[in-house]
Amino acid sequence: MLWKTHALAGASLGVFLSNHLDTASPMPSLVGITVEPYVILTIGAMAGALGSLLPDIDQPNSKVGSKFFMLPTLLKVTIGHRGPTHSIVGAVTVSFLVWLLLSMIYPLTNMALYVLLLAGYISHLVLDSLNPQGVAWLWPVTSKKFRIPMFDTGGVGESLIVIPSLVVLLILVMVL
Ligand SMILES: [Zn+2]
Repeated sequence: MLWKTHALAGASLGVFLSNHLDTASPMPSLVGITVEPYVILTIGAMAGALGSLLPDIDQPNSKVGSKFFMLPTLLKVTIGHRGPTHSIVGAVTVSFLVWLLLSMIYPLTNMALYVLLLAGYISHLVLDSLNPQGVAWLWPVTSKKFRIPMFDTGGVGESLIVIPSLVVLLILVMVL
């Protein structure tokens, strides 16, 4: 799927979860201090979108890959695209490392932010599973790629069905 498709799904999930995490979690807010609801939703959208772009760090020309010097090329050559980064183990690990990095920059960051990054990351794997290439969800147990091939990356279905649906979803989670 295209990066904008992933970002839309991640942002929608981030907004939805941050709405719920804020009231349901024992933590006062996503950033450790009490802030206005719209700030929480914005952080939720950004964290979900960021998480949703992380799996393609193994792709040098991807949105997130192009921001990291050498690392994406190294990953692509060693583990390949849609390998370990596109698995549950990859999701938990990479989201945690990024959360750790963020919490070093901003010490008040709490675990709710990790949940948002992870949720965005998982949404990427779900959407990529709708491509014919599939996703190795259970790596390292098996490298078998699971798929329900419905849409080609950048194809007509993604542009005419997936992206418009996600735009509607994002609007819905923001207003409901
Ligand atoms: Zn991907």
